[in-house]
Amino acid sequence: MLIDKLWELQELQLDYRQKERLLQELDISSSLSHKIDETQEQLAALRGQLETFRVDEAKISEKLDDLSAKVHEAGAKLGKEEMSEDKVQKLEEKMKKLTLEKEKVEDAQGKNFHDRQDVEDQIRASELLAEKLRKELESIPQSDEASRATVKKSLPTLRKEIENRKSKLPLKAKLIFESLSEKFSGAPVAKAVSSTCDYCHVRLSQKTLFGLRNAEGSGGDAEELIRCEICGKILYAGTKDRE
Ligand SMILES: [Zn+2]
Repeated sequence: MLIDKLWELQELQLDYRQKERLLQELDISSSLSHKIDETQEQLAALRGQLETFRVDEAKISEKLDDLSAKVHEAGAKLGKEEMSEDKVQKLEEKMKKLTLEKEKVEDAQGKNFHDRQDVEDQIRASELLAEKLRKELESIPQSDEASRATVKKSLPTLRKEIENRKSKLPLKAKLIFESLSEKFSGAPVAKAVSSTCDYCHVRLSQKTLFGLRNAEGSGGDAEELIRCEICGKILYAGTKDRE
């Protein structure tokens, strides 16, 4: 019967759509994996920078301690020893120099601190991003390249099969099937189960039920399609219901 052919056609159509969707998801999945790798590389670079800052910070601290000790030492000498004016002047100049140097080192320490915080912020942001990407990736079905290629390869054949079957349909049925396919995401046929449309779950009218029975009774390739009065889908009584 024509309706059986339409039902099979719908199965093929839905299979095609599902495979297309799978391929799209695999594309997203591979681009996500790529982004995760990039983020990991960035993280490694940032952690390297952070390590450099830590090493620098230790050196700076050491230098500061050293300078502080020298300034203190010079100050102690000035306070204690009896010395010539000339010597005092020299010592004072030395202290001035040391103090200036100490200020410079302190500035460097401040800059190191801020730069390091900046890198730490970037690391936190990258870690959050990587985490988010990983969760996104987990929510997508995984598949290897081989099965992806198999699915991709099967699509043109499936497409051809669908077109071939469609071309053999009576024109009117073909047009209805195609326009309803567009409207209902590739599923223009609904099963009639227990006198109810399986799509909109509305009880079918006596007239529609009569039409369905009549179409079965006539057997062969009756071209009259019975449609749900509510949603408009083509109704299929199903093989089981007929037996
Ligand atoms: Zn319906």
